[in-house]
Amino acid sequence: MFDTHELGRRPGALQKLTRSVPAPKDLGIAGVIGTPEGVPVELALRLESVMEGVLITGTARAAAEGECVRCLEPLSQEVAADFQEMFSYHDADDRGRTRAEPAADAEYSEDDDRLFIEDGLFDLEPVLRDAVVLALPMQPVCRETCAGLCSTCGIRLDENPDHHHDAVDIRWAALQGLAETVKDGEKDNMGGAEAGVDEKQEK
Ligand SMILES: [Zn+2]
Ligand SMILES: [Zn+2]
Repeated sequence: MFDTHELGRRPGALQKLTRSVPAPKDLGIAGVIGTPEGVPVELALRLESVMEGVLITGTARAAAEGECVRCLEPLSQEVAADFQEMFSYHDADDRGRTRAEPAADAEYSEDDDRLFIEDGLFDLEPVLRDAVVLALPMQPVCRETCAGLCSTCGIRLDENPDHHHDAVDIRWAALQGLAETVKDGEKDNMGGAEAGVDEKQEK
């Protein structure tokens, strides 16, 4: 909650302030990237008094944590979210309202979206939430050049720059298969030997 009493209601009055607030729960894009609850959010605000309310312009900065969409490694980055929002006085709203019966649903929903100053206080949290979600990447990456994971075996390619699968590997696999067949033959012989041992033990 922020106080507008110091600002006053004289149109044109300006107030700048900075404040550090703990991040509310679920600040960010759920399951993708966000600012953990309680992490400090640095706010720089400009409050401007206008006829019908207070116009808030500001920037929020905070650390955000998520996971790279390509390589799935944890990542952290700073988010800087700009916002501008009008908070209206209730009495100004009453003055602006027509005397006709409020009928259209559209008008109601428009009213619901409006933010108000209550007893000289306004709540920045919904504005902060929207701004942070917009400022965060929908597809965060640990770095722009992240090569992600090998689609064949899932190994992280940035850590294995020479990693590849190609036709040579397939032929090699065929040779390995052949080698295993030979080994199986050896195993059969071994099995025979073991069976002999077992027979001895039984005696
Ligand atoms: Zn990555
Ligand atoms: Zn691979």
